[in-house]
Amino acid sequence: MSNMAQELERRLHDLRSQGLYRELRRIDSAQGPCIHIDGKTLLNFSSNDYLGLTNEPALKAAAADVVERYGAGAGASRLICGSLAVHHELDETIATFKGAEAALSFSTGYATALGTICALVDKDDVIVIDKLVHASIVDAARLCGAKLRVFAHNDLNDLEDILRWSEHRAHGNGTKHRVLIVTESVFSMGGDHAPLREMVELKERFGAWLMVDEAHATGIYGEHRRGLAEALGVGDHIDVQMGTLGKALGAAGGYICGSRPLIDYLVNRARSFIFSTAPVPAAAAAATAGIKFVQSKQGAERCRTLWQNVHELLGVHAQIPANNQSAILPIMIGNEGQAIAAATKLRARGIFIPAIRYPTVARDAARLRLTLTAAHTSEDVKQLRAELAAQDLVPGERRVYSHEPAR
Ligand SMILES: *Cc1c(COP(=O)(O)O)cnc(C)c1O
Repeated sequence: MSNMAQELERRLHDLRSQGLYRELRRIDSAQGPCIHIDGKTLLNFSSNDYLGLTNEPALKAAAADVVERYGAGAGASRLICGSLAVHHELDETIATFKGAEAALSFSTGYATALGTICALVDKDDVIVIDKLVHASIVDAARLCGAKLRVFAHNDLNDLEDILRWSEHRAHGNGTKHRVLIVTESVFSMGGDHAPLREMVELKERFGAWLMVDEAHATGIYGEHRRGLAEALGVGDHIDVQMGTLGKALGAAGGYICGSRPLIDYLVNRARSFIFSTAPVPAAAAAATAGIKFVQSKQGAERCRTLWQNVHELLGVHAQIPANNQSAILPIMIGNEGQAIAAATKLRARGIFIPAIRYPTVARDAARLRLTLTAAHTSEDVKQLRAELAAQDLVPGERRVYSHEPAR
């Protein structure tokens, strides 16, 4: 074995011994509430396809149609010659859906966070992030070169202290610093909500900028299903609204919406947008169809089904108040090995829920990340409920481990 392969084997061995080894599991069916793995059919409670749109005929037809008209690939980045009509239609559809002046789509949510944050702040600035934000935001915060400060999860006092510190820092050497606060609206691994109203109040008081990632809220919260910011009435007060197109919207990609100058600036400065081939036409068209579906009566109906399923699983005794509801209902385990054992046991019973471990969450904060979708039937949910009860597993706990560090 080569020197490199030997070294990597050693590192993999370490991962295995810590219960942190990951491997791909091949799925031999379409995404949906039932999936086929290793010749077995399992009920799938792990997807972010909250409205069951990945297999919706309208999305598939839209994708197939543009493949015929525009081809399989985009040919180049959008600033070279890849800015196809389907991409413009998608951007316009996002802006209308979100009630924003303008929007820009990216090939992934990860690329959206990276390109946007690095375009907005640099080494003279300060970036302030919640301790539990998604890896794409953490990576962007490191890459952008700004002074990075992390506030305790959803802790407004801690955030305020950091904002006060950054104000003093700005006065210190006379240069003008920007302060960018970044949070998720619904947290991807806990399903809990950020206090967006209070954060808007703080960012306005301190003259900071606020960016909110609605990856797990777009399509399922608010009167027009724009996200949690809409539900809390603060959509117009968030400078940079981010979301993904691959979760409730059923397709793939990410987006930013906000003011026209913000979007024009990102076209000029977001490197993950500029130096990357435009998304395939099929992805853009499916996302556009996904948004139109979400905006329709059927979309509203799907959303109601999703929340019915959540209530069905949690039952009437649920501890979670209605204004903090989520389709992400983690089962907290703690130890990595025990989390894998619990997932394996459930798999043997026909239930697929993945064990989420470090570095996705903190060490010893492992959990089963259970998600419900509108595509689950009430029978599916009843079966899940029975299997969880049989193993004393409690979904939807909002415990946050106090030691959870930034990744
Ligand atoms: C999934 C996710 C992303 C990344 O989006 P992709 O389109 O999957 O790259 C970004 N932020 C959050 C909070 C996410 O959950």
